[in-house]
Amino acid sequence: MALREIRLDGDPLLRKKSKDIVEINDRIRTLLDDMVETMIASNGVGLAAPQVGVLRRAIVLDIGDTPIKAINPEIIEEDGKVLDMEGCLSVPGYSGTVERPERIKVKFVDENGDNKFVEATGLSARIFCHEIDHLNGVLYKDKALEVFENKDLEEEEVNEE
Ligand code: ZN
Repeated sequence: MALREIRLDGDPLLRKKSKDIVEINDRIRTLLDDMVETMIASNGVGLAAPQVGVLRRAIVLDIGDTPIKAINPEIIEEDGKVLDMEGCLSVPGYSGTVERPERIKVKFVDENGDNKFVEATGLSARIFCHEIDHLNGVLYKDKALEVFENKDLEEEEVNEE
């Protein structure tokens, strides 16, 4: 495994749409492992492939006992709305309030090629939505009601995704 460099806001690659992954090979599995390592090393709770310069539909999330690696993720159901704070490893130093669904159902393929259906609520739902937005070239600040500098916030309010 290896750490990958995180692309920062202003990099045109972050604004491109990522392509579906059609074959899950060792290269994709290495990418996912590297993304998990990079996310954890950066104290993040989520990371999308375009953030490490790869325009493929893959995301990782740190929302349970073991990190989730999701290929071609898709939101197939959503309910409710919650306004809460989020941040992004590609937009360091800032956080913003974004409205997200309270509950979602996500479909994805895991690194073994198996279909998975996961229900997520609250922060977990927020992270899925944030990472899937990255695959479409969307950053949270595009949707944020307000954006704040982290130095003006208490540390525990900030989650980097
Ligand atoms: Zn992000």
